[in-house]
This record gives sequence, C-alpha cells and structure tokens, in this order.
Amino acid sequence: MGVDLRNKVACITGASRGIGRSISLALAEAGAHVVLISRNLNKLKDVESEIVSSGGKALVVQADLAEEKEIVSAFNEIKSRIKKLDILIGNAGIGKAGKLIDFSIEDFDKIMAVNLRGAYICCQEAMRIMIPQRSGYIISISSVVGFRGYANQSAYSASKHGQMGFIKALAAEAQEYGIRVSAILPGVVDTEFGKAIRPDLDKSVLIPPDDIARTVLYLLSLSEQAMVDQVYVRRMASSPF
Ligand code: NAP
Repeated sequence: MGVDLRNKVACITGASRGIGRSISLALAEAGAHVVLISRNLNKLKDVESEIVSSGGKALVVQADLAEEKEIVSAFNEIKSRIKKLDILIGNAGIGKAGKLIDFSIEDFDKIMAVNLRGAYICCQEAMRIMIPQRSGYIISISSVVGFRGYANQSAYSASKHGQMGFIKALAAEAQEYGIRVSAILPGVVDTEFGKAIRPDLDKSVLIPPDDIARTVLYLLSLSEQAMVDQVYVRRMASSPF
C-alpha cells in the first residue's frame, strides 16, 4: 500500500539535512514534485541531485525562515513556478541546550524566530495557496518537547509548545476548506541537532530520520475519511505513555 504522490507538490522546510532531507527523499520517491527550502544552497543542491538522479523532480528555493520577506518570496516562487501546493512539511527548526537561568536572550530570540515565527509565517503562506485550491495537507514537525518539559531545553520547549498552540488552532480553521493539519512529535532523532541537544545519549538509541519520513508517508496514506491529529514517535529506550 505505497503512497502515490504523483501530481502532488510538496514543500519541505529544512530540507538540506537531517529529518527534512529524509522526508524530501521519501516524498520524491513516492512521486511528489518536492520544493526544498533552507539557507544552505550547496546542501540543498546535493539533495536535489540525489532526487533528480533517481528520476524525481525537485525545486531548490534558498530562504532564511527567520526573515519574513524571504519566506514570502519563497512561497511566491512556488506560486509562480509550480502554481500549486498540496503538502507543506514544516520541519525547519533550531535549538540549543542550556539552563534557563543562564540562557542568553539572543539565543532565545533566534529559536523563536525560526521555530515559532518562521513556522507560523510558512503556514500563513501555504494556507494562502491551499484555501483557493480547497485542498492541502500541512504536517508540522514538532517534538516531544512540544508537550513535555525537559531540563536544559526551556527555550526550545517554549518554541515547540508555541508551535503546537498555533497548529491546533490552524487545524480547526483549516478543516472547513478541506485542508488537513497534523503534527509529528519525535523523541531524539539521529541528526546533527539531535546529537547536539542530547550529547548524553548513545547514537545506537536514537530514532533514525527515515522513521520520521515513514511517519509522514503513513499520514499521507490515510483515506479522506480518517484523520490523525498527532503522532508521538518516542525512542524505544524511553518510557511509554
Ligand atoms: P538539523 O539536522 O539541524 O536540520 C535542521 C534543518 O533546518 C536544516 O535543513 C537547516 O537548514 C534548517 N534550518 C535551520 N534554521 C533555518 C533557517 N533560519 N531558515 C531555513 N532553514 C533553517 O535538525 P533535525 O534534527 O533534522 O530537525 C528538524 C526538525 O525536527 C526541527 O524542527 C527539530 O526541532 C525537529 N525535531 C528534531 C529532533 C531531533 O532529535 N533531531 C527531535 C524532535 C524534533 P540550513 O542550515 O541549510 O538553513
């Protein structure tokens, strides 16, 4: 029961590496025309080459999601070059470990600018394309820290709780247009970021990024009669429920 995404356009933010790269490769393999967004043009082009050499379709759009103007122009490029958007994977994100008492407000602002403000503006722009289409699917890559608090992750956790707040409201607003909104909340994933935020964990217990890509494919595989609001993907070695 593979997912057929031929004729679908999927935009993935933070596509240059880690979870976003895995999701981009998986959606392209399922037939989607993928739009790859992040700041690092060379890394985006590497992902594009991988997709194109396997027969897939990709468009690279360089943008810093901390900048409103760059987000708006990225989505304008999608509108002018591809003319539609079926799927947005809101994945780009940053974080930094540190005790609340020592955390620099400059770092706090940087995290909020990408994870909360940038993610919010991406959803606004996607909705502006999806509402006239009366269809679309927005999947937000949140985190376990979007519903739990972990020591040394206060700013990151606040950004992901905030992201979950607007995603829940958006899900309620989007439904009348036939637009679906879900969140995936992973535990620690084996990426540069995952290893940096939890240096205490051995690589062998981290979730492979391809498992998050498979979770995206699972959500996209459901019929129009079924809806999964959120999926919590925890490390096997962590505590259940
Ligand atoms: P990663 O390997 O560090 O990748 C982060 C991605 O976000 C990169 O593609 C990066 O691209 C992009 N990005 C960062 N800042 C950006 C900006 N200002 N503008 C545009 N793109 C930006 O991290 P990851 O582990 O794959 O994380 C991806 C998402 O999953 C994040 O939202 C993270 O919070 C979430 N998550 C991760 C874990 C984990 O343990 N790894 C667990 C739960 C949730 P450029 O550098 O090219 O801009």
